[in-house]
Amino acid sequence: MLRAARDRRINLRDFGDGSLGVTLDETADAALVADLLAAFGAAADTDALVADARLEIPPHFARSSPFMTHPVFNTHHSETEMLRYIFHLQGKDLSLAHAMIPLGSCTMKLNATSEMIPVTWPEFGDIHPFAPRDQTEGYRTLFAQLEGWLAEITGFHAVSLQPNAGSQGEYAGLLVINAYHKARGQGRRNVCLIPSSAHGTNPASAVVAGMRVVVVRCDERGNIDVADLRAKAEQHADTLAALMVTYPSTHGVFEEAITEICAIVHEFGGQVYMDGANMNAQVGLTSPGAIGADVCHLNLHKTFCIPHGGGGPGMGPICVAEHLAPYLPGHPVVSPTDGKSPEAIGPVSAAPWGSPSILTISWVYIALMGAGGLRLATEMAILNANYMAKRLSESYAVLYRGSHGAVAHEFIIDCRGFEKTAGVKVEDIAKRLMDYGFHAPTMSFPVPGTLMIEPTESEPLSEIDRLCDALIEIRAEIADIEAGKLPRDDNPLKHAPHTIAAVCADEWRHAYTRERAAFPLAGLRASKQWPACARVDNPFGDRNLTCSCPPVAGFAS
Ligand SMILES: *Cc1c(COP(=O)(O)O)cnc(C)c1O
Repeated sequence: MLRAARDRRINLRDFGDGSLGVTLDETADAALVADLLAAFGAAADTDALVADARLEIPPHFARSSPFMTHPVFNTHHSETEMLRYIFHLQGKDLSLAHAMIPLGSCTMKLNATSEMIPVTWPEFGDIHPFAPRDQTEGYRTLFAQLEGWLAEITGFHAVSLQPNAGSQGEYAGLLVINAYHKARGQGRRNVCLIPSSAHGTNPASAVVAGMRVVVVRCDERGNIDVADLRAKAEQHADTLAALMVTYPSTHGVFEEAITEICAIVHEFGGQVYMDGANMNAQVGLTSPGAIGADVCHLNLHKTFCIPHGGGGPGMGPICVAEHLAPYLPGHPVVSPTDGKSPEAIGPVSAAPWGSPSILTISWVYIALMGAGGLRLATEMAILNANYMAKRLSESYAVLYRGSHGAVAHEFIIDCRGFEKTAGVKVEDIAKRLMDYGFHAPTMSFPVPGTLMIEPTESEPLSEIDRLCDALIEIRAEIADIEAGKLPRDDNPLKHAPHTIAAVCADEWRHAYTRERAAFPLAGLRASKQWPACARVDNPFGDRNLTCSCPPVAGFAS
């Protein structure tokens, strides 16, 4: 029967116990159903059978209450209207199509059109995650090549493409470490050391993986306090499971003690998990494997060009050294390892290879760049960050640097002092950048009151200079407040961002001009992205969601 269905190009789910699964979605038509019935050996006149079938919804399931009454669902009826509506929404957004997005740690780089095109191909997009292996040979070639490249880039032995995000990779990697300890009769190991500078997902993943988090201090230069690490590793020698470490650190510095740090953890029986979010500073120059780590995740939506923002989509494959390879995630329906790994941990995602259709993006990126191109990209990313750090250091203090005075692919500028000298908070600078047409850098991570800037290799010098000019001009505005030329409570920073309505209103009662509000730099006259709304109190807005589409008056009653 399976063969009969397959001959008709229909895949049925074989549960392996003599039962079959059939799934139909709303695209199935009468012809398909007739075909399916024929595969089951139904009588010759399947057309009549289908015609006879009752397709209406039983009355007791029919909806009687109104639904989707919001005007947005009942306004845009033609393609023209829909197109304009979507374009209108798009116009409120500031994207990489407008300006660089200098979000440190997030690596907002070019998502090249040539990389994105294969995502639209039905040959990739229309494959069911559980399709029989002999029908997915193209995908399997892509998996094998990408795994090989990622293994080479990370200096590791094996790769699992299953996790759908960096955080899920952390979880998967820690489960792999757990399985490794258990297999060696050391299941008691459950302590996870995490430096205080770590991304919030690190401790969260450790807890979800059943580990106990012990925080390791950082010194005043932002590096892991090696003495504290050694003391804590020694103290928990019996139960040490892992260290989670980010390299270069989230402080934007190549931690010089990194190999020593890995060695200490191994000395006390732990495994080293490297958070690979900062791979954009490593690819082609060094690798987690070379540094002495045992497992890392890669954020393919950061370093390897999958577009991200607003929550996805992502891919966070994990790469492991040889001794951890047997434990990489398996899957009960389609085994990613051909069933060759009896020790595999269970699945961490619903699908055996996560979200494979977007793996094409990273595949094209690596294929087009080649080894030399990837290395050059890393060098450019580091060069761009150092150029910015140098230009901005006359206006802002760069918080952390390596011992030679350089930063990695990102850096932190300290804005904490301005609160005292000018009453300006880091949030005011972030909001003011919108008037200059920029998305703010990463704010208050990993250090509260600071901005972390990552230009990436994708940005040309002119755009990097444009952001530097904006930040330098903002520093001059702060200086005017410090000098008493602008009031502390009425200046362009405190009222930023300025909407077109505010700037054009008949009434203007500020201590600075409209021109300074909207066009603080001459270049903005030629190209201005107007903020869609004025300042929103972020925490209040996050906690008090209202739909803004129907007129507010509609809510009054
Ligand atoms: C982005 C990031 C993560 C988490 O990755 P997601 O894909 O967002 O889950 C972890 N650590 C660092 C340092 C990051 O920048």
